[in-house]
Amino acid sequence: MKRPDLAPPTHPIERLPEEWSETLRAWGEPAYRGKQVFQWIHQRGVLDPDAMTDLPKSLRAKLIADGLAMPATIALAKPSDDGTRKLLVRLGDEKDIETVLLPQLVDASERDGLQEEDADDDASAGLVPGDVVTQCISSQVGCAMACSFCASGVAGLKRHLGAAEIVAQVILGRTQLTGNERIRNVVLMGMGEPLHNYEAVARALVLLTHPDGIGLSARRVTLSTSGLVPQIDRLGRDFGGQVALAISLHATNDATRSAIMPINRKHELSELVAALRRYPLPKRRRITIEYTLLEGVNDADTDADAMVRLLSGIPTKVNLIPMNPVSGSPLRAPAWTRVLGFQRRLQDRGLTCFIRKQRGDDIDAACGQLALHGAAARKGRLGLPVLPVLPGR
Ligand code: SAH
Repeated sequence: MKRPDLAPPTHPIERLPEEWSETLRAWGEPAYRGKQVFQWIHQRGVLDPDAMTDLPKSLRAKLIADGLAMPATIALAKPSDDGTRKLLVRLGDEKDIETVLLPQLVDASERDGLQEEDADDDASAGLVPGDVVTQCISSQVGCAMACSFCASGVAGLKRHLGAAEIVAQVILGRTQLTGNERIRNVVLMGMGEPLHNYEAVARALVLLTHPDGIGLSARRVTLSTSGLVPQIDRLGRDFGGQVALAISLHATNDATRSAIMPINRKHELSELVAALRRYPLPKRRRITIEYTLLEGVNDADTDADAMVRLLSGIPTKVNLIPMNPVSGSPLRAPAWTRVLGFQRRLQDRGLTCFIRKQRGDDIDAACGQLALHGAAARKGRLGLPVLPVLPGR
């Protein structure tokens, strides 16, 4: 993958192998150990230098003195009946973020055969959690975007996450896997607006996809944004379009979009769509369009028709998300028949369109609820983001 220019690392976990080599050289250690240290951290998830058994004691002592340690811990792990696990991750300054493990659903009768299928192609009946796991991670504590239907923005932005804290969510996530499970997809759809924290997110993307580390394929890392146009361009340039892009559209005219997503007042729809048209999307890849259905706000047939016009000629797949209730918000999902009607209208006009159903219902509520109900969350009430999948026709 194309390697962008990155801001300098701010935590030992953030060093790339070559940066470890430079550091080690400065410490009077052989440069080849850089890759070894990187592999211990990212491939094996070992952060305790004393457990890095093939390193000399003297080097381990230097790593400890340098402050190599996990920047976060799991404060609470909450499993759901459908295999989903929500983790409350506590940062060094006692702030909490959320990350979710979502096993891809596979057909109960063909559990092993279907694991390489794309989640979006699954049918919903008779499905059980498989070994391929998608992890949803956060990029900020809170969020500055203040979208009216989203719990993450209610209290505003507390702070950005560092790249170390972003990657640590995956290192911690792996400790929660069972059996043959593996994390194959990572989606930046937790708390925060990833493109508002560009430098840290860019470094985290390079770390997560480094072949000597966690080794995710860039196309299996999806960044979801509310539409920060200059940073969408920058992402495209920096990563050559390899990072999968998801856009939170949620409305198809500027008046409605500006009312529910303040970012639209800065970058209006025409500007956003132009950025999607110039995103250097690789062949046979598509931009995901997220559309949270809000009753009486964006769920009319005319909205569907406007979406078709807006997205014409852009390779997309649309994920319709009936709004998860957010306490204190009068907004809500339309009736199920309207959701299906909206999907059908898009499909009839040639858009690829899925309905994303909330998973983990039994362990509660919507994405970002945790930010809103921090105290309740500590007592065990955990929110979950939406994810796969109801079939099309
Ligand atoms: N800041 C990023 C990531 C946000 S979370 C972005 O805006 O894309 C991922 C998705 O969940 C976004 O599309 C977001 O708009 C959506 N979402 C937030 N709150 C929701 C809710 N209550 N119901 C349904 N979808 C919601």
